[in-house]
Amino acid sequence: MGGNISALVQLDTVSRVYTMGSSDVVALRAISLAIDSGEYIAITGTSGSGKSTLLQIIGCLDTPSAGRYVLNGTRVDALSDIELSRIRNFQIGFVFQAFHLLPQFNVCENIELPLLYRKLSKQEREDKVNEALAKVGLTKRGLHKPHELSGGERQRVAIARALVGSPSLLLADEPTGNLDQRTGDEIMQLIENLNDEGVTVVMVTHDLEKAGRAQRRIEMKDGLIL
Ligand code: ADP
Ligand code: MG
Repeated sequence: MGGNISALVQLDTVSRVYTMGSSDVVALRAISLAIDSGEYIAITGTSGSGKSTLLQIIGCLDTPSAGRYVLNGTRVDALSDIELSRIRNFQIGFVFQAFHLLPQFNVCENIELPLLYRKLSKQEREDKVNEALAKVGLTKRGLHKPHELSGGERQRVAIARALVGSPSLLLADEPTGNLDQRTGDEIMQLIENLNDEGVTVVMVTHDLEKAGRAQRRIEMKDGLIL
């Protein structure tokens, strides 16, 4: 298949077909894509073009219907759900448009969640949570519940949760989609700072101005990369 064998993400002719009763929806059509460690990539394209499906496969939330996916040296396209959740926990940080925080838990507890699956002491977890909180500028908000925060603050918490386990990849699906212009710009700046520190970022956005700030732009249409 060739390609860059040292790439962090290596997709080879990956397809995803959703079966809906008797009809099939082809969301990805034999996509090949390599992403190197440290890159900052924006994925754009019209609604329904397959952006979220691609991101979910890269993030091991979903598996290809066909094709091959190697993440950080491990072939992940045919792993079981348990193996995938382990890979996700160690390698992937996900940020969504709608934040997806747990409302009954405070900020620190939300950020700590990914660490509960690891063998860490309480003190180690606390240190990592505090470091992540500081990174997103929310040190004073640790004991607040999500509903006591603004949208921008909630997204910062989600970013801290995505980062706390030091993943190989930060994936963001329309991370500023629920935020006003100014707050969205602040979140973009935060994501860019993280990339400057070496975090590999793949971001879906329909905002071409924001996409233009990435190092590389991938445009999708009808399940293909243009
Ligand atoms: P985008 O994020 O670019 O809007 P998606 O990846 O969400 O696109 O969707 C790509 C195509 O796959 C669309 O036609 C969509 O309707 C379909 N699709 C997405 N998720 C599902 C699903 N869970 N079941 C069936 N079809 C789906
Ligand atoms: Mg989408």
